[in-house]
Amino acid sequence: MSTQTSDKPARNTTAWWREADRKHHLSPFTDYKQLKESEAGARIVTRAEGVWLTDSEGVRILDGMAGLWCVNVGYGRKELAEAAYKQMLELPYYNTFFKTATPPPVELAEKLAEITPAGLDMVFYGSSGSESNDTVARLARFYWKLKGKPEKAHFISRTYAYHGSTMAAASLGGMTPMQEGYGLPLPGFHHVDPPYWFDFGGELDREEFGRQAAKQVEDKILEIGPDKVAAFIGEPIQGAGGVIIPPDSYWPEIQRICRQYDVLLVADEVICGFGRTGYMFASEHFGIEPDMMTMAKGITSGYIPLSGVMVSGEIGRTLVEAGGEFFHGYTYSGHPTACAVALANIDIIEREELVRKVREETGPHLAKRLAELAEHPIVGEVRSLGLIGALEIVQKKRPRTRFPGNGKAGTICRDHCFAHNVVLRAVRDGMVMAPPLTISTEEIDELVSRLRTCLDLTAKDLG
Ligand code: PLP
Repeated sequence: MSTQTSDKPARNTTAWWREADRKHHLSPFTDYKQLKESEAGARIVTRAEGVWLTDSEGVRILDGMAGLWCVNVGYGRKELAEAAYKQMLELPYYNTFFKTATPPPVELAEKLAEITPAGLDMVFYGSSGSESNDTVARLARFYWKLKGKPEKAHFISRTYAYHGSTMAAASLGGMTPMQEGYGLPLPGFHHVDPPYWFDFGGELDREEFGRQAAKQVEDKILEIGPDKVAAFIGEPIQGAGGVIIPPDSYWPEIQRICRQYDVLLVADEVICGFGRTGYMFASEHFGIEPDMMTMAKGITSGYIPLSGVMVSGEIGRTLVEAGGEFFHGYTYSGHPTACAVALANIDIIEREELVRKVREETGPHLAKRLAELAEHPIVGEVRSLGLIGALEIVQKKRPRTRFPGNGKAGTICRDHCFAHNVVLRAVRDGMVMAPPLTISTEEIDELVSRLRTCLDLTAKDLG
């Protein structure tokens, strides 16, 4: 009898998942050739609880990024699984097209009108941040058409902005590699510099730099013509662009400029929303009164896809009173199971007072521990608001000088973090973090201590 041995690894083992991943799975933002050639293959995450991930080899990893900036209430929340289960048994899906609705999206809409900044009181749902920002692009144009100003169709946003991966969202975004070679940005999408003092501020005073960065928006509006500009969109803090926290002078100026030229102000709160900064929405902290606000991620803590665009009373009234169909929508707009999970998620955020805790306890603790890292020889700046933060890696602190290699130092540090089982992200030569809002002060200490070790190793590598 011949015994046949196969080279194929046993099913549902690390080796099997890695092989299937290489062969059949196209992951986002991946160099497929590099992944194919890499020895290690993907890390397979199989379980999670609180702020800790466990991989298929049983290794515990501290998730300093809350997944992709989204698992606000932490992993393993039974209430969210139960909300989905209950809703799926009752009514797993029905659409909200053609004059129908289901209870969860309606109940959630009422709740969102209560907790979002004053003046925002109607919501249009999608399933991702990208979809909401695409909705903004169409809704803003539709609004101005209804107002009798169809030529107001241009958009202004910032370099380093991330608003998503769909064609309009990537056009609104300011990530050059996402645009070059992809026929983007689409016509009518314009960009100005971000309020990124550390890299662009030079010797300017921070607040003066903030005013000058805002002035770029005014100059761009005047260049295009105020009667042609539909909206300015910005993340209150640019997340994927490197956790760029603007000077205090920036947003009030942007608000004034948008009002003066009758340009809609859109806040992308996809990362900042639902408590991340110690406010339910960062617009409250920065004094932004948006005409539209996009949200996703923390709305369900990433347990199930959902997003929304909140619109102001003025936009809502115009849509309702002017008439004319808004030819736009997604099969999953107002998905009842996703909305039921969002309601349960917001209930946890409120019941556990997560926003207050981030503002008064864990946020200040992270800031204090990061401030100690500012003394590290290769750290040029630390910054944070609530539980979103960053540090800049430099060769020389004064004048601010980067290591050669354009992002190499960040990648080295990120790889050390990966090897030390703490997930942090590198953006150019900066390290960014956004842990679940349920992280304890002891876990913050652990995160910062691992990061310090990785900075030491990075400094050694860069010699
Ligand atoms: N807007 C911001 C600020 C984001 O950070 C992201 C994703 O990271 C998006 C929009 C896009 O969201 P999604 O990936 O859900 O399409």
